[in-house]
Amino acid sequence: MRGSSNLKKLVGVTKVAYKIIQIKLKKKLPILGSADITNSCNLKCKHCYWWLNRTPRKELSADEWRNVVKEKFVKNDVMSISLTGGEPLLRPDVIEAILSEMKWRYVTIVTNGTLPLVDFGAGYFISIDGTESIHDAIRDEKTYRKVKQNVLDHPEVNVVINMTINSLNYGCVEDVADEWYILARAFTFQLLTHGNN
Ligand code: SF4
Repeated sequence: MRGSSNLKKLVGVTKVAYKIIQIKLKKKLPILGSADITNSCNLKCKHCYWWLNRTPRKELSADEWRNVVKEKFVKNDVMSISLTGGEPLLRPDVIEAILSEMKWRYVTIVTNGTLPLVDFGAGYFISIDGTESIHDAIRDEKTYRKVKQNVLDHPEVNVVINMTINSLNYGCVEDVADEWYILARAFTFQLLTHGNN
């Protein structure tokens, strides 16, 4: 009985979300958003354009981010945003501030997974670039083990594995899926848009 009432609720929420999306599309209003909350990162991945072009500059404070979120996302009724960087887990103060402003809206954190996964109540997208040797060749030695241990140590957080396919890792997509499917809620795959490889 409980299962069927949960299912009814889920169907109801999905219908409402679908209607909202249709209205927003008609009015050309934004549905999804993204915020690069820090310019810093603890890695220097081979395929990354971010650190190659990085110039040191002052970052926004948590309160300044609150204002950005209210102005750009809440006012425009953006339903879901992803927090990226750099490495967003280097700014837990900003993550907490943004979550408190976004309230019921959906927030995800896109991370390299090498820092402890704090249960902020948001979903995590963790970048995995291949099986251990390929991932480490791209991201740095021992990062793969660090990420895996981190995920094992934090079963309370929701993890989606995010793989960017490039010329170094296209052959191991199935192996990655085999290795992570017990630990992850889902997988996303994307193609490299700019970089050295
Ligand atoms: S973890 Fe992300 S931001 Fe940092 S260097 Fe790697 S790809 Fe770039």
